[in-house]
Amino acid sequence: MMGISTGKQYIDRINKRNTNIWIDGNRITGNISEHPAFKGVMASQAKLYDLQHKQELKDLMTFESPKSGNLIGTSFLDPKTKEDLEKRRLMIQEWAKAHAGMMGRSPDYMNTILMVLNAASDLFSVEDDQCAENMRNYYEYIRENDLSLTHVFVKPQNDRSKKGVASENIAARMIKETEEGIIINGSRILATQAGMTDEILVYPIGSNANDDAFAYAFAIPCDTPGLTFICRESFAYKDSHYDHPLGSRYDEMDAVVLFDDVLVPWERVFLHGNLVVNSLLYTQSHFFEHIAHQVVSKNVIKTEFILGTIELIIKSINISEYQHIKEKFSEVAIALETMKGFLYQSEKNAKINQWGSMMPDPNPLLAAVNYYPKIYPRLMEIIQLMSASGLVAIPNEQDFQADIGDDLKKHLQSANQDGYDKVKLFRLAWDLSMSAFGSRQQLYERFFFGDPVRLANQLYTDYKRESSINLVKEFLEQD
Ligand SMILES: Cc1cc2nc3c(=O)[nH]c(=O)nc-3n(C[C@H](O)[C@H](O)[C@H](O)COP(=O)(O)OP(=O)(O)OC[C@H]3O[C@@H](n4cnc5c(N)ncnc54)[C@H](O)[C@@H]3O)c2cc1C
Repeated sequence: MMGISTGKQYIDRINKRNTNIWIDGNRITGNISEHPAFKGVMASQAKLYDLQHKQELKDLMTFESPKSGNLIGTSFLDPKTKEDLEKRRLMIQEWAKAHAGMMGRSPDYMNTILMVLNAASDLFSVEDDQCAENMRNYYEYIRENDLSLTHVFVKPQNDRSKKGVASENIAARMIKETEEGIIINGSRILATQAGMTDEILVYPIGSNANDDAFAYAFAIPCDTPGLTFICRESFAYKDSHYDHPLGSRYDEMDAVVLFDDVLVPWERVFLHGNLVVNSLLYTQSHFFEHIAHQVVSKNVIKTEFILGTIELIIKSINISEYQHIKEKFSEVAIALETMKGFLYQSEKNAKINQWGSMMPDPNPLLAAVNYYPKIYPRLMEIIQLMSASGLVAIPNEQDFQADIGDDLKKHLQSANQDGYDKVKLFRLAWDLSMSAFGSRQQLYERFFFGDPVRLANQLYTDYKRESSINLVKEFLEQD
């Protein structure tokens, strides 16, 4: 039992694993933390772990384990009071500041998921008490050792019209149960941070299984035999933080996951075939409320980062006198204040749920996860509309170091910076709004929490509206 991890411990652990991970047609061999696609983002993740050890942040980022007495990460904290919720938010935001809100899978995301599944572990006993016990043991194991996780819960995109029964011979399914555990065969999408985590959690959130072969939940080490991760191409491109300020640091990577008769030992199985648990898991665990609280806390910081970038662009080329620029800035400020409003409102109206956890109010969070995927592309459009050619007049670091460097410093100067510093800012704006990294961020914000169309349907179903209805009924009853 060790408590909070350091960045070095995280890197060493991942390097020691023999995870089967492929990129550009080759299996990665050697230290994954030195591979060009993973180097930057793993260093960023390591910095997050190190922040937990900073003396001045320890009270915020950690708490004492009820089991071992060791310091463990605040994102594992099951909130019992509104103060706990606030502490969780501040901790999440401390990490988000360190990654400019660009790492959707910073460890607090998965830690929050485990916290929820542990709090609601009784749900798993509907199938089998041992499954509930396994869930609690697993949460404790990850918490006490501060291990990192990725997750997959989507069936491959083959023929969506076939709904739950789609791609039976493709989508990962349970093919048998043995004395040692369950055997999984097939594939799943889409594991963000795949290959750079210790473990993978596989579960049926949002999958509407109507066949018990798809009703499973488990977690295994990423180097379990038979497990393969196949990455997209890297958007980190180069090491240079000047050229790719965001991609070189925060490209989290996404991978398809193949299960080739993977044996999941019984102690790691949380669900194996029970369609009732499968259907209750998302709603009854209150997965949504806690994860959305993490997401919105992070996205407040992301929006602050965007607003700061936009204001520096305005000052850089001195365009603040134009009314449409002020109006566009105001759109960004409104987005930021709206997100903060959703977040604080969710905490203010938080209530203890059936698992004894202080649960944020879902109404503002439902609004937030429907709002942000729509406003985020607009924020990126505003960066483009304000920056214009500034997003392509961006020679790279090597150009500035070459003989032409002085000419570039002069000719690309802005109202308040020389060419080198102006291009540094505009390369950031480009990486946010236009590069492969920036486009992936847009796609991420649109889809990572699920299809926006179905999220809107979820809002229609779950939004609490009794007070509005009563207002109208009382009005109608007046005569
Ligand atoms: C950058 C990124 C990172 C991600 N990271 C992860 C991760 O770490 N782990 C993970 O498990 N998943 C991850 N995802 C996957 C994410 O959860 C899915 O993208 C999301 O749930 C939507 O599913 P899909 O991509 O299969 O889209 P599809 O369901 O195939 O949808 C495609 C289109 O068809 C429409 N459509 C399909 N079915 C219906 C229907 N029944 N009703 C109405 N419209 C429908 C959709 O609206 C959409 O327009 C990630 C996705 C992205 C883009």
